[in-house]
Amino acid sequence: MRACVISDVHGNLHALEAVLEAVADEEADELWCLGDLVGYGPRPNACCRLVAERADMCLVGNHDLAVLGDLDLDFFAPDAAASARWTAAALEPEPEAFLRSLEPTGTREGVGLYHASPRDPVWEYVLSGEVAAASLLAAPEELVLVGHSHVALAFSLSEGALDGDVAPEGTEEDLGSADRWLMNPGSVGQPRDGDARAAYLVLDLGARRASFRRVRYDVERTQEELRERGLPEALAARLEHGV
Ligand code: ZN
Repeated sequence: MRACVISDVHGNLHALEAVLEAVADEEADELWCLGDLVGYGPRPNACCRLVAERADMCLVGNHDLAVLGDLDLDFFAPDAAASARWTAAALEPEPEAFLRSLEPTGTREGVGLYHASPRDPVWEYVLSGEVAAASLLAAPEELVLVGHSHVALAFSLSEGALDGDVAPEGTEEDLGSADRWLMNPGSVGQPRDGDARAAYLVLDLGARRASFRRVRYDVERTQEELRERGLPEALAARLEHGV
């Protein structure tokens, strides 16, 4: 069983298309998405439609919930709130219904899927070893996948000892080498780990391997679309630096 895992698409259609093209060559049985299809980016409807069509499992994220009116925008930074308001106005009925049908947690093939973390599937950021260990203790699954931070990560826990760090392109993990794992595939549409390329993860549950991948996409096209729609300039600028 091979699954490709994506997260945090954020309305970046060109990044999503590049990832889906790469995923087509991975001989994967399933595609899982950990949420935040919209918010920040200029193409929310097309991204929702593509993920609805291609993903076998999809979670809802905090930005999706904000756009649906289910989370208070006071908790968002000003640029995030501005883009959530724009997205809410631009969202068409079918993509909206798709987002409303999703939950922030799920399981697939025994793997725990959480948009943010097992302790708080909507808000908590798992970026430190401390939070990764607490997340694993709070989850029943051996292998836990999270999104939300936009940073590709791989943490393992064996006999109480936590190991792990950021997972740049080319990181390969042997799932048999530890008791428990927590991984973040990184973000498709707004990476924040200093690598501007779109991120995804290949999980081979049979071979017990995880492979972190990055793929180039046309950043300038997404930047142009952001500017055409009058979305905050900082959201365009950050994409070329992956921050
Ligand atoms: Zn996100």
